[in-house]
Order: sequence, then C-alpha cells, then structure tokens
Amino acid sequence: MRLTPREMDRRELLLCAIGAGVAALWSRTASGQRPRTRLIFLGTGGGPRPKKEASAPAQVIVAGDTAYVVDCGNGVARQLVLAGVPLPTLRHIFITHQHSDHVADYGNLIWLAWAAGLKTRVDTWGPPPLQQMTRLFFEMNIYDIKTRMADEGRVPLVPLVHVHERTEGGVVMQDDNLKVTAALVAHPPVTPAFAYRFDGADRSIVISGDTVRSDNLVKLAQGADVLVHEALFVPAVDRLVAHVANAPTLKQHIVNSHTAVEDCGRVAEAAGVKTLVLSHLMPADDPAVTEPMWIDAARAHFRGTVILAKDLLEV
Ligand SMILES: [Zn+2]
Repeated sequence: MRLTPREMDRRELLLCAIGAGVAALWSRTASGQRPRTRLIFLGTGGGPRPKKEASAPAQVIVAGDTAYVVDCGNGVARQLVLAGVPLPTLRHIFITHQHSDHVADYGNLIWLAWAAGLKTRVDTWGPPPLQQMTRLFFEMNIYDIKTRMADEGRVPLVPLVHVHERTEGGVVMQDDNLKVTAALVAHPPVTPAFAYRFDGADRSIVISGDTVRSDNLVKLAQGADVLVHEALFVPAVDRLVAHVANAPTLKQHIVNSHTAVEDCGRVAEAAGVKTLVLSHLMPADDPAVTEPMWIDAARAHFRGTVILAKDLLEV
C-alpha cells in the first residue's frame, strides 16, 4: 500500500501519539504513581473446596520485576498468567501454613514455571514438612522433569530450588526489593502458621495467613500501608457447612481457627494500618453475603480504607 504525503503525516502523528502514550505509561510507573511494590490477588476464596466464584488463596507481590508468591492454592500458576506476571520471574515462595487450600499447587507452580522457561533460583519458605513435600514432589514427577531436560534442553530443575523450613517468627530474608518478616499466628490445629510482612521501598504489605484474631499480627502489622486479612462472615457459617456430612465438626474448626470480619477491623485499627483488604473470604460464594456487608462489618471498628479482594485485583 502506497501512502500519500498527507496520509504519511497522519500515520507518523499516530505513531508518535502511541509512542508518547507508552512513554507516559513508563514514566508514570517510574514516578511512583503506580506503586513500585505491586500486590495482586490471585485467589481470594477461603477453604479447600474448588469454587466457581473465586480461585484458591494466593497472592503475588511484584517488585523490581521479581515475583514473590505468598501461598499456592490450586490454580496459582494459571492465575499468575492471567495477572500478566511472567512465570519465569518467580523468585520466592512463602507458605503461611500447611493447609491444602494454601499449598495444593506449591510443587505445580515451580514445575510449571520451569516448563514455561524458568531457569533461575527459587527459594521457598514455610513450615515443615516443606522440605519433604518438595523432595517427594520432584520424585513423583521425575519422568517429566528428566524428559524435558533431555528432549527440550531445559536446565536441571531440582538444583534451582532451595527450601527453608521455618518454625519461628523473625526476619525471613532481605534483598534489593524487600525485607520479609514473619510472625507466628494461631490457626489451630495447624502449627506453625505464619503471617508475613513485606517492607518495600515505597510501601509495606502484611498478609495474615489463616489465623484467629492475633496480637502477634497486630504487632507485625504496626503502621503498615496494607494489611491483607483473612475474613469470616460468621452468620453465613451455617449455610457454608449445610451440605457436608461433618457439619458440626467443620463449623467448630471454622469458627475456632479464623477471624470474624468485625475483628479484622479491630486488628487493622490496633495496628494503625492505612488500608485493610479482606481476602481468603469465607464464604466466597454465598450471594446472600454482599460486598457492602463485608465492608460495613469491617468498617465498624476501623477508620481506614477497607477493600474487598477479588481474584486478579491489584491493590
Ligand atoms: Zn488454613
């Protein structure tokens, strides 16, 4: 196709405009209008039962083009893809506790990221038996791993992964982007259970993990910009367990090991955080519990901003 001079001018103008738009986007990122330490919710539905409405618990913090994944609920690798986070940028995995909704895809995330081009070191942090889980996962899938190494020329996967089991709170790790600190929280009978704090250059983010109302969490979250807190809407628990045979036992577990949404507000207030994000929602798929109901319940005891998390929401 030949363009007249006038059309060429127009086309150049258009290209310039697109170029300027892209440049503006980048400079906006660089000037900090968009946070440098990004937080993306990958899965927001609490509990092990797969749901139509919400993926299983997982979130990613992206800082300096590096991905720090917190918890690995079912579907975490696919959710990262949907969030636009390249799987080969996976660098650290933090596990809050050993419940299946938080670890079902722990091994799968590493394995699939490797299949998607990951060639670099991954450190994983969390409660025992993380070491054994990792070793057995690779053993279980050794056929595929060896095949892809031989057939597709991939780097050996097993030596890339460094596992760090933790049983106490304290500083977990620090790099150029983040300082990560853990605190023990209470999520009976699962122990240890951790909350994690991520202090970046521009802001601090705390993720509660699963916990009852926790003083340790209040201490860990002091002055944080964002507190992500698991949340239970207590009046809906009876409906939540209505269709299971073990309803009384399950109800007891849920109420005794999680935090009522009103208490999420109290924790956020006591910690003096700016923003409270409710995630790991229980229930996540009850149409009778609406967004205003969640937010109002938390806001009753907290003066800051309250956000209800949704899959793929960036805060
Ligand atoms: Zn749990």
